[in-house]
Amino acid sequence: MQNIRRIFFPILCLTWAPGFAQSKPAADLIITNAKVWTVDKSHPTAQAVAVLGDRIVAVGSDVGVSSLRGAGTTVINAGSKMLLPGFNDAHVHFIDGGRQLDAVQLNDATRTEEFVRRIAEQAKKSPKGEWIQGGDWDETKWDPPSLPTKELIDAVTPDNPMCLSRYDGHSALANSAALRLAGITAQTPDPPGGTIVRDVHGNPTGDLKDAAMDYMDKVIPPLSHEQRLQAARRALEHAASLGVTSVQHMNPEYADIEVYSELLQAGELTTRIYAAPLITEGVDDQAKIGIRHAFGGPFLRIGAVKAYADGSLGSRTAYFFEPFTDQADNHGLLSEEMQPLTLMRDRMMKADAAGLQICTHAIGDQAISMILDLYTDVVKAHHGAERRFRIEHAQHMAAKDFARFAQLDVIASVQPYHAIDDGRWAEARIGHDRASRTYAFRTFLNYGVHLAFGTDWDVAPLNPMLSLYGAVTRATLDGRNPNGWFPEQKLTVAEAVEAYTMGSAYAEFQEKEKGSITPGKLADMVLLSDDIFSIPPAKIRDVKVLKTIVGGKVIWDAQRKTQYSTGN
Ligand SMILES: [Zn+2]
Repeated sequence: MQNIRRIFFPILCLTWAPGFAQSKPAADLIITNAKVWTVDKSHPTAQAVAVLGDRIVAVGSDVGVSSLRGAGTTVINAGSKMLLPGFNDAHVHFIDGGRQLDAVQLNDATRTEEFVRRIAEQAKKSPKGEWIQGGDWDETKWDPPSLPTKELIDAVTPDNPMCLSRYDGHSALANSAALRLAGITAQTPDPPGGTIVRDVHGNPTGDLKDAAMDYMDKVIPPLSHEQRLQAARRALEHAASLGVTSVQHMNPEYADIEVYSELLQAGELTTRIYAAPLITEGVDDQAKIGIRHAFGGPFLRIGAVKAYADGSLGSRTAYFFEPFTDQADNHGLLSEEMQPLTLMRDRMMKADAAGLQICTHAIGDQAISMILDLYTDVVKAHHGAERRFRIEHAQHMAAKDFARFAQLDVIASVQPYHAIDDGRWAEARIGHDRASRTYAFRTFLNYGVHLAFGTDWDVAPLNPMLSLYGAVTRATLDGRNPNGWFPEQKLTVAEAVEAYTMGSAYAEFQEKEKGSITPGKLADMVLLSDDIFSIPPAKIRDVKVLKTIVGGKVIWDAQRKTQYSTGN
């Protein structure tokens, strides 16, 4: 860990945005008396920042920047607090996250009675016949851990079909009413890439894994436009309060993008969004219009596609070379999109030929390896072009694949919170050797791989402080590894912040526009309650956001507990 006090030095120099020094109009906003960590290697620290319009125009000392003060300049005295570039979450499910803020919360319901009580309460509030969804349950937190079944909840949900997702989104628990509507019986076969969990008599227990959840998707009515707008607004408010100024929305529905466009036009979009629809349809549609990667404006971009290679470790559907340590007949599931493999190869070739960025979810070591094979095929076929392939999660690496990852310049889009969450039980499932290459952030950096940080919200909390804490301490959530789970993979605070800002900006082709406090870049910044470089790392998770600034406008102020729009 670095001590920022030691590296702060009297700042004499002032850096300007190109062209600004000649004309020098007064700044709209000046932030003074701050501990600025710029994430700009040429000027890592500063005291003050000046903003004109939505751009940073100068970064330097209080005295230097004060020369830009005019009659109409707003001045924020930061009170010696720490100012960072706004956080860019490289992997979120933004609308699901917004929905979950208002849905039944089951993630911390660690006893069966509590689980049932909260569901019963939600059912009582819900109109008859309305679907109950969300939940984010996590049976690994139960004592003893066991998959919930429909029998637990049928009695308390007599009038509502229910499909509650596991927090990782790779399993769901349906009640009998929902199974009936979906037509799932003992006779229903497991779909490719999915499992209907059954009891000893072959009857569905209500637990559906991966592609088996598609049966539910067919009968659950889609969100109304109003519900989607409401979810987006809740998500934006939540992001603003946490200093998240950009998000990269993986597999949005088109209707989500429509809602973002509407909010953008109304000046209500306060978080910048890069949206990557599913490759299954997103490739043809975007290729048809001629959209290329990162197409759009500063608040809303498209031009990427999201593919799925496998499931998750938690649902035992991540695809490994070797079986799970605690389940000898199972080494995971390839996604439907990968069966046959030529289907995925064709889609990737098409996406790449169209100039679309490919982001592929791959968690198990074999799934990651197969995607690297496919990426290699694409490069061989198309040569040239800077494509910035991504692997989302890149969780369990085969030792042989780190070098390939770097050589193909694939971005590891990773979620540090998953490391301290899954770290509670991962070793029991995959053994020590494979666990040693799990969330291997340090190894990735050693190989020169670009890291982008995110949360996978609503799979994990959106709060960047929890992810920074996770990357720096690797202290698992159960408190059993206070010195770090595979501590050799810990990052420094500076490395973690860089992955969360510049790293994520690079992952969406926006490193020249954002990711650091640099003259000329968009003025997206966050003021923190504490200096995360000098407090004990264990305290990082308690750090609060005082102000969030997007495009030079304060969109969140903890004191006033207010959210503002970016429009006029
Ligand atoms: Zn995800």
